Amino acid sequence: MSSRFDLGPPPRLGFAGSRLERAADRRADPAALAALASDPRSRSYLIGGEVVALKKTPSGHDPLFAAAETRDLGDPAEVAFIGLLDGAARFAVALAPSAIAMLQARSDIELIDLRSIAVRGLLAGDHLSALAESKALINWHARHRFCPNCGAATRLVEGGWRRDCPVCRALHFPRTDPVVIMLAIEGGRCVLGRSHRFQSGMWSCLAGYVEPGETIEEAVRRETREEAGIVCGRVAYFASQPWPFPMSLMIGCYAQARSREIVIDRTELDDARWFDREEVALMLLGRHPDGLTAPLPIAIAHHILRAWVEKDIEFD
Ligand SMILES: [Zn+2]
Repeated sequence: MSSRFDLGPPPRLGFAGSRLERAADRRADPAALAALASDPRSRSYLIGGEVVALKKTPSGHDPLFAAAETRDLGDPAEVAFIGLLDGAARFAVALAPSAIAMLQARSDIELIDLRSIAVRGLLAGDHLSALAESKALINWHARHRFCPNCGAATRLVEGGWRRDCPVCRALHFPRTDPVVIMLAIEGGRCVLGRSHRFQSGMWSCLAGYVEPGETIEEAVRRETREEAGIVCGRVAYFASQPWPFPMSLMIGCYAQARSREIVIDRTELDDARWFDREEVALMLLGRHPDGLTAPLPIAIAHHILRAWVEKDIEFD
C-alpha cells in the first residue's frame, strides 16, 4: 500500500555507512602499521576529547591532516589505526592538551564538537562515519588508561584495538554500549516523548540502554513500559546506527503497543503522548502548525519516524 505521505528523497543516516576497510589483519603487525604511517597518502583525524580539529579552507572544512601537518604538535596522547580508504591509511589521533592549546591559537583551524559538525553539515557523510569510529575509539582509550581489574596503567596495542595490563595480564577491548530506540505504534498512531534536555517543541522516539541479561526485544518492552507506561507485544528491528556520544550503538525498532494509557516517568521524560501520521509528517517537514519538531536526519529517530510515515508500517 502506498502512503499518502512522500517526504522526498531519503537523507543519509548520520555516522553510518563507512567506506573505510578496517583491515584488522594489519593491527597486530607493527611493521605494516609503520609502513602505512609513513606512506605519504596516509592521513589522520585529530580528536581532542569532545572536539575535532578541522582545517578551514576556501572550499570548506577539511578534517584530514598529513603527517607533516601534525609534526609541530608534539607526541600525540594516543594513535589508533582506523582503516584504509582506497589503500591509504587513516588514523585517529588523540591530541595532548598542549596540542589542543596550540590548535586553538591558530586562525586556520577550527575545534568543534562532532555533533555540531553533523548538525551544521560541515563535512561529507564519509567523514562523519570515520569520525564516529575515531571519536568512539579515542574516547574508550581515554577512559581505560588504568586496568579495571587491578588498577595498573594499561598500554595501547594492536594498532589501538586493545589495551593490555602489564601487571595482571588482562586484555581490554574497545566496547560499544547498545541502546534501544523504539517507536511504539498501534492503529496509525505512535508514542513520542520529550526528554528534559530537548529543546522546546522537539519530540522523539523513546530510548534506553540495554541492560545485562536482556534481549533487544525485552529492553524495548521494558523501556517503553517504564518511561511511558505502554505495554508492548511484538518488536521488529528497523536499523542501527553508531552514536559516538561517547560510544553507543543505537538499535532502532518498532514495537506493537498493546495498551493505550500513557503514564509518564517524570524522572526520565518531560512529556509523552500519542501522535498520528499526519502530525509526524508535518514535524519531519518542519511545517507543524504548533512548531513541533522531530530529530534531524543525523539521528536514527528521524529515519524510524520517516519510514513509519511513508511506508505505513503497522503490526498485523
Ligand atoms: Zn591489571
